[in-house]
Amino acid sequence: MKIAVLPGDGIGPEIVAEALKVLEVFRHEGVPLQTETGDIGGVAVDRQGDPLPSSTLALCQGADAILFGSIGGPQYDTLPREMRPERGLLRLRKALDLFANLRPARVFPELAEASSLRAEVVANLDIMIVRELTGDIYFGEPRGITRNVAGERVGTNTMVYSESEIRRVAHWGFQIALQRHQALCSVDKMNVLETTQLWRDVMMEVAPEYPDVKLTHMLVDNAAMQLIRNPRQFDVIVTGNLFGDILSDEASMLTGSIGMLPSASLNAAGLGLYEPIHGSAPDIAGRSVANPLAQILSVSMMFRYSLKRPDLADRIDRAVHVVLQQGVRTADIARQGEAVVSTAKMGDSVVAALQAS
Ligand code: NAD
Repeated sequence: MKIAVLPGDGIGPEIVAEALKVLEVFRHEGVPLQTETGDIGGVAVDRQGDPLPSSTLALCQGADAILFGSIGGPQYDTLPREMRPERGLLRLRKALDLFANLRPARVFPELAEASSLRAEVVANLDIMIVRELTGDIYFGEPRGITRNVAGERVGTNTMVYSESEIRRVAHWGFQIALQRHQALCSVDKMNVLETTQLWRDVMMEVAPEYPDVKLTHMLVDNAAMQLIRNPRQFDVIVTGNLFGDILSDEASMLTGSIGMLPSASLNAAGLGLYEPIHGSAPDIAGRSVANPLAQILSVSMMFRYSLKRPDLADRIDRAVHVVLQQGVRTADIARQGEAVVSTAKMGDSVVAALQAS
């Protein structure tokens, strides 16, 4: 199993170091893991003058999975757009056609108090949002700001999906539901948007291929409400790029802790890029206080979805749970007055729990 490791900027290298300790445990147990590190983002601009050097792209193209830290920092904000760190990530997603974005929102019972909702509403919450990532109104043409005949400015974007774009993300939605609790909720706005009428039609056409999955549909305005009212009713949600962007951020905030949430972006071949949902946190970089658990849980997703070792993914998830039960906390998830540990100590605690499993 070849893993391309891209630590990136800010806290990226600190938290990726902890994720690599987890890989080392499995390597010792005989799991055939090879890792190779590449530059991306700001560090790649500094060293190689390009946020996605061709050597990094080649490394990722030859890998079975990509473990990504985070990119960005204030020192790069004034660079021309093409040289900005985030361009490296966007180009990588495009080059590898990573069209399915998986965003879990999971609340470990020990951290339920961190949510802005009542603990009893979110305790044990475990939702997966599958968001289409390469189509929809973000990419549709025509787009732009023009003037109409009266000379008034008019802004235009185009919401567009082809049947094949919907079908391929539908398959990911159904397959992930199969691996979980077999319930897939497709979110659209078919009452007013024809694009999403097609979305619903294609979902229903794909459904007979997955007789064990119960498919339901929900309008996006209702879904936004239900995520707050009763989030535990959901297992897997599948939706387009625009709705998924908003709903996945809403769902992540149900958990209240940005340092705990991993994500994956996958292509049709199952190659995936695995990263925490948070950024490079320049405000805390270099101080060894960042929470590495989102990065470690990204390794779990990598074993589950690209490397097809759900057994190892389960072990990581359980080890993280054990560590939280033991009361080990980095500053972001500690309650007032609670003792806090460093990034490295949190990683070591997960390693110890893994070795004991
Ligand atoms: P951020 O997610 O980096 O940080 C937001 C807040 O959360 C900060 O207070 C930070 O200290 C805290 N935080 C984030 N991760 C944490 C962790 N693991 N442990 C503890 N605390 C954590 O968002 P931002 O400050 O808006 O952006 C910083 C930089 O990251 C920007 O340059 C932005 O463009 C970039 N960014 C990158 C990605 C990515 O790499 N995919 C995603 C979002 C933002």
